[in-house]
Amino acid sequence: MADNVLTLNNIEVVYDFVSLAIKGVSLHVPQGGMVALLGANGAGKSTTLKSISGLLAAERGEVRRGDVRFLDHDLRALPPQERVRLGVAHVLEGRRVFEHLTPDENLIAASAIRSRHDVARNKERVYTYFPRLYERRTSQAGYLSGGEQQMLAIGRALMTQPKLLMLDEPSLGLAPFLVAEIFQIIRSINKEEGLSVLLVEQNAVAALEIVSHGYLIESGRIVMHDSAEALKKNPDIQEFYLGGT
Ligand code: ATP
Repeated sequence: MADNVLTLNNIEVVYDFVSLAIKGVSLHVPQGGMVALLGANGAGKSTTLKSISGLLAAERGEVRRGDVRFLDHDLRALPPQERVRLGVAHVLEGRRVFEHLTPDENLIAASAIRSRHDVARNKERVYTYFPRLYERRTSQAGYLSGGEQQMLAIGRALMTQPKLLMLDEPSLGLAPFLVAEIFQIIRSINKEEGLSVLLVEQNAVAALEIVSHGYLIESGRIVMHDSAEALKKNPDIQEFYLGGT
């Protein structure tokens, strides 16, 4: 079996045929690993995730060069729904949930390709990890707090039984205690199930607490790759991303 669940090799992404957003990015996520992709606004984090899940086409973007490998699959050759079926889950920035549906209905709606038995089991699993969602399971999702909506967005991804969970800025707009709670839950899912995680964050402080490795992207290029411990001590990271001295 491949050592890495995901390998990006020198990918380039363009929007509208000309606008080069990603300029030769290589990164990997080991099987069962937790890796962060850090960077400022507009650096190319979301674009990188979309190149993996296949959601670029909807925005007139495309991977123009390079490999996107998931286990033994060449993802570039596959449509987004096939990538989900293989085990790639992408939680988009901004907690996209169906606001007029309940959490329960949101979870069921995310599981169209699973049997009824799988849906019941997966729902139970999501509620075990996120007991708050269970408490709110009959409210409209639009009335949930920001943190609860983020939990629901992650729960929807878990309903697809992913092997790789990609999270785009899950901490955005949430109070620090909620970020800590959600990140600890993600870490326990990783530990208990060996689910591999690629975490995109501007909040480097919180991200580097839970991942083992991180990449720093600037203007569409990876400019640093190291262990979380080393990144935390790096003066540039401290100055620009950790609010350090
Ligand atoms: P943010 O945290 O603000 O989402 P990011 O690091 O995720 O930033 P991207 O959203 O991937 O960055 O953007 C990378 C570059 O690609 C930016 O220059 C952005 O303007 C450009 N870009 C992103 N989406 C599109 C699009 N749909 N069409 C054209 N250009 C885009």
